[in-house]
Amino acid sequence: MRRSVSLLLICTFFFLILSPICSDPFYGASTILHDIRPSKGIVQISWLSEWFAPLKGTPSDTRVFIADSKKPGATVFVAGGTHANEIAGIISAVILVENAIPSYGRLIVIPDINMSASTWTESTIVPSWIRIDSPHGARFFKYGARYTDPVHQGMTDPDRYKHPKGGDSFEGSESRNLNRVYPGKPDGTLTEQLAWAVMTLLKKEKVDIAFDLHEAGPESRLANMIVANPKNLDLGALAVINLELEGINMKLEPSSDVFHGLSHREWGDETSASAFLIETPNPAQATDKGNPVEDPKHPLEERVAIHLATIEAILDAWNSDCLPDKHIEFAMFPSWQAIKARGVGESLNW
Ligand SMILES: [Zn+2]
Repeated sequence: MRRSVSLLLICTFFFLILSPICSDPFYGASTILHDIRPSKGIVQISWLSEWFAPLKGTPSDTRVFIADSKKPGATVFVAGGTHANEIAGIISAVILVENAIPSYGRLIVIPDINMSASTWTESTIVPSWIRIDSPHGARFFKYGARYTDPVHQGMTDPDRYKHPKGGDSFEGSESRNLNRVYPGKPDGTLTEQLAWAVMTLLKKEKVDIAFDLHEAGPESRLANMIVANPKNLDLGALAVINLELEGINMKLEPSSDVFHGLSHREWGDETSASAFLIETPNPAQATDKGNPVEDPKHPLEERVAIHLATIEAILDAWNSDCLPDKHIEFAMFPSWQAIKARGVGESLNW
């Protein structure tokens, strides 16, 4: 009896989580984990496999949300979840999907770019689901892993991983790290095919500015860092100055010349996009593993505010220097100040 009650409770729990997901009209054969409720600015929801068909039906296919002003302007791309344990990146991308409405130009967002990494969890310390309370009820987001699930990869890890363009070699598990394998290969591992699909989207959609949202341990050199492709370092420098005036201190560094496979390096080198990676400090990635949502020093709202403020500052820098028909303007953009003051839940949709 007790066992069947437990089973009923478990089923009810998963029904409550999955019901808004399964009722999504865009639900398909591939995986949907995060509860994302698009704003009226989203005019198209596609799957990444529409840019690279071999991804269709694999655990790496993922939703692509497009907000289009239908007026001339820049195309901006934002990716969350490259490392699915860096939850502020995923939540920042979700908040863009749920709030941002461009008035000039286009916004393309993939909140969960390594879907396979979201389907499993390496850590037993952090919860695998994150609950965020909003005025419209509780919302649930998956706290995933850094790497593609080894079961999905299609082959066992090599002893060592080395990028085809050269550089150092790493542990074999790095072959499942999306941010080590760009530009990928059309006939490679699942992670390489995923990277290839992202590169194809960036090229076909003629993306002008691309952001990859990450987190690092608070003690890491990378925390509060913008990494910029060398060709667009000036935009990063202007953004850092303007962010400092707003009380947000970000460091800036260019992509390494010898460290290949990273988004900011390969997106910027192989496409026309200005490419940036943004890092915030995630307590759950610290050596002593803090809470990824409610840590007193680095709460989720503060890290999401940093991501959104940095994107806004870089777009302002872009607008100050681009041709008039390449402006990106927003009728609605989530307020990082409001998120920092009132929490993430207030900015989640219906
Ligand atoms: Zn990362």
